[in-house]
Amino acid sequence: MNYSTEQEIAVKAVQEAAKLCQAVQAQITSSVLEKKDKSPVTVADFGSQALVCRAIREAFPDDPIIAEEDSAALKTDENAPLLEKVVAHLSDLRSGVDAETACKWIDHGGAQEYSERFWTLDPIDGTKGFLRGEQYAIALALIVDGEIVVAALGCPNLPVSADQPDNTGVVYAAVLGEGTTCIPMDGSTESVAVKVSDTTDSAQARFCESVESGHTSHSDSANVAEKLGITADSVRLDSQAKYAVVARGEADIYLRLPTRPGYVEKIWDHAAGVLVMTEAGGKASDIYGQPLEFNHGWGLHANKGVIVSNGKLHDAVIEAINEVGVTAA
Ligand code: AMP
Ligand code: MG
Repeated sequence: MNYSTEQEIAVKAVQEAAKLCQAVQAQITSSVLEKKDKSPVTVADFGSQALVCRAIREAFPDDPIIAEEDSAALKTDENAPLLEKVVAHLSDLRSGVDAETACKWIDHGGAQEYSERFWTLDPIDGTKGFLRGEQYAIALALIVDGEIVVAALGCPNLPVSADQPDNTGVVYAAVLGEGTTCIPMDGSTESVAVKVSDTTDSAQARFCESVESGHTSHSDSANVAEKLGITADSVRLDSQAKYAVVARGEADIYLRLPTRPGYVEKIWDHAAGVLVMTEAGGKASDIYGQPLEFNHGWGLHANKGVIVSNGKLHDAVIEAINEVGVTAA
């Protein structure tokens, strides 16, 4: 199968959504933050989903999309001002958008069930990072016969590389069997292939995890790190940018350890990141070392937690988890 058209459309859609997210984020002021006003992330979330779903729908009208949002909440009287803002931001990028069109695009992402070929989208992954002005991602993946085959992962606040801290904004693009490319959003530098690290000594491993202790157990990860002989602190960042950081070899391990029994990981929180990272040479599994299964609808129902590594360290990480135990599994 050739997925070059899918990849091209996915990357363009994510780039357009990233522009909208950046425009919304630029308007977050300290007074918005003081008021704990979450409306900017809501506006960007719906706007991003509308743009990506529109693009997929136009190019592949028969493809279902399992996305995080639906427009029901936006259509209430109370949220009319939010819908107005979504439409205003969409109109800056596409002419002739009205409220009805925006909601129609958003609701094209309303599929729930597994199908042979479908897309999954997180229009803004890492909403808390978005509000803090830190890392967030736009994550889009195509799944065919349960296998992730195309991914576009936009990280608007991630530096293009560690040695260019001020040049931020990248899209990682991957096609199954074809590797992962880093595409700078401003087009100033060329796209380059990325590869995971060569680290084989687990004591030297750099590991990353969520900022939010509600999304991963920081205490369990500290125990796992200690078991592996890691002395360096973890790097904490929001969103699937963690997958990108492992894919390009800046971290060797990403741990997502359950915080409570019964939580089911969402496919849109992982699909794009997983392919970007595995196509760069890494490995993903759950905490028991089992492959992640993307053929159960919206959730990773067959798995517990998510463990990501450069591949070489994977067995050692799973063994360490097994030895220390994970409290909420
Ligand atoms: P991160 O930015 O990596 O912390 O992950 C953000 C994602 O965590 C959100 O998109 C949520 O879907 C997801 N999330 C929410 N609650 C939990 C939880 N209890 N465990 C794991 N992930 C969660
Ligand atoms: Mg998410």
